[in-house]
Order: sequence, then C-alpha cells, then structure tokens
Amino acid sequence: MTQTLHTARWWKKIPDGRLECFLCPRRCHLAEGQAGFCFVRENVGGELVQMAYGRPVALAVDPIEKKPLFHFHPGSAVLSLGTAGCNLGCQFCQNYDISKERAAQQNARHLEPRAIVDLAVEHGVPSIAFTYNEPTVWAEYAIDIARAAHEAGLHTAMVSNGYVTREAFFELYEHIDAVNIDLKGFSESFYERFTLSHMHPVLDTLRWLRRETKVWLEITNLLIPGCNDRPEETRKLCEWISIELGDTVPLHFSAFHPDYRMLDTDPTPPETVHRAREIALECGLKYVYEGNLLTRDGGNTHCPACHRTLVRRNWHRVDHVEIVSGCCAHCGQEIPGQWD
Ligand code: SF4
Repeated sequence: MTQTLHTARWWKKIPDGRLECFLCPRRCHLAEGQAGFCFVRENVGGELVQMAYGRPVALAVDPIEKKPLFHFHPGSAVLSLGTAGCNLGCQFCQNYDISKERAAQQNARHLEPRAIVDLAVEHGVPSIAFTYNEPTVWAEYAIDIARAAHEAGLHTAMVSNGYVTREAFFELYEHIDAVNIDLKGFSESFYERFTLSHMHPVLDTLRWLRRETKVWLEITNLLIPGCNDRPEETRKLCEWISIELGDTVPLHFSAFHPDYRMLDTDPTPPETVHRAREIALECGLKYVYEGNLLTRDGGNTHCPACHRTLVRRNWHRVDHVEIVSGCCAHCGQEIPGQWD
C-alpha cells in the first residue's frame, strides 16, 4: 500500500534551513529526509510529515483495567490502538517490537479515524484508548480519532510517558478524558540512563494535567530491581505526588518482567511491590494499587473513610462495585473518578 503522508503539526523552520519539531521536549532538528528520534516524524521536502497517521500496528479490545485505569468506568471494555515509534529510549520497553522497530510501520494497515470509531461502535465498546506505543508522537491521529469518538458519544483514554511540550499539551489533552502517565522513576539519573530522557518535563505534564485540565489522571510506576526500586526513591515519589498533585490520584506500582535490553535483570519480587504500596499508604495516598502480579488485596479499591472494599478486582476482571453516584455505598464518602 502507498505510504500515507500527513502533514504534521507543531514544527517550524529554523534559520539553518532545518525543521524543528516541538511536539516533545527533544525538539529534534531535522534536515531534508531525516526522521526524528521517534522515527515517525520526518522532514519530507521541507515539510514535517507524520508517518504514523492512519497506520495502527496494534489494535485490540482490552479491559480498561489493563491500561491500567481503575477509577474510570470500571469493568468496561476499551478499543486500544497503537502505532510504531516512541520518543523515549527505555531499555526495559515492554512493547519494543512496535516502539523501536521501523519495520512494524511498513506492515501497518490503513485506518482513517472514522473507521476506528466505527470499529468501537460495532463491538459495543464505550471507549477508545491510545496506547501500546507513545501516542504523543502520533498526536494528530489521536486527536482526529478522539474528535470522531466524542461525536459518537464514546470516551477517550491515553497511556503516555508524559513527554510533551506545553506548546502541544493543551491541544492534545483537550480531547482526552482519562490518562495514565508512566512516571518511570524518581531520579534524573534513572531517566537519563534508562529512558534517554529527562524527568522534569514529565513532572511538569503531571502538574498541568492535575491543575489545568479536567482529564482524569492515574499514574503508574514500574519497579525495576536495582534500578528504581529503593524505598527512599519510592517515598520521594509518593511525597511529591501527595504535595504536588494531591492524595487522591490513583497510583499503580507495577512489577517488571525482563524485556528488550534488560533481559538479565530479575523480575520484581512481589515483596518489593507490597513494600512500595505500604510506603505510598504511609505517605497518605488514598488509592494505591499493585499490578503485573497476583495480589490478594492490591487490586481492590477501598473507601478511605470506612475502609470497606468498594471495587473488588481479580487480575483485570471486576467482580464487584459498591460505588453509587461517585460515593461509597456504605458511608457516602466521595470516591474520585468517573464511575457511571
Ligand atoms: S515527537 Fe519525535 S520528532 Fe518530534 S521532537 Fe519528539 S522525538 Fe523528535
């Protein structure tokens, strides 16, 4: 099939004749024929082109819990899609076959935004999620799908590394109802060494989301043995969330499995994840979850006032919900999220 060339947004010509892409903080400067770090945005004939537009390489119906989003229409299904490419260089990437493989893009099928929405409607799925690889790098496509999804009465969700500039942030997130941001660690050295990026832009994105938008926000922290799992680092991360974002933002600690360039690193012991959750609760965070491992109670939502279990989960399945009109069915405490 002929490659679809879609003119990108968020770029400008710079004095030396190259193009600057300012969608993400990398701000790649691209000469004619050059692609950015994400490899899906390219200077073609003096115009920035978005190669991933209309070209999903992964498409599936998932439980919303798998994103993970636990306070957003629990138990519902979500049509999930991703393209090729990524603007980070995580050594532990769990989807490197699409995020780092240019070949993946060659095999993509062509689906216009409306066709994605039609698929969701056809399958009776109430939400569409931009996920698997980093949706920021194909923001133009995500925005057009989201517009069509909202027109059809569907919700939109995103799973992101949060690496986006303020110039692009509002134009992208005004179309998103819920997001899970991967806060990959809580030290600049970890971000530099293991993700080839910087931490502070991600913290900025989290602040903007919480303070300047109505997007429903949850956070995931993948705990990698010996890299970002020190209890002191976890405590700092939790304290920062509590102070900067508030104690009601759901936080998911996720267990690492060896992948990509970190095949020699052991999987995260369950005790590390349990300990991280205890630290987060000690720091006052109210909704803290464990993921990517079998957990007795770490997947459940509890009422912070009367401590009853309000949402009982079994892996990605929701067995039981006792939240009525956004409140605990037992004591009436408000439970933040979108429940209906
Ligand atoms: S989105 Fe891609 S091309 Fe643009 S600045 Fe980021 S990595 Fe570079």
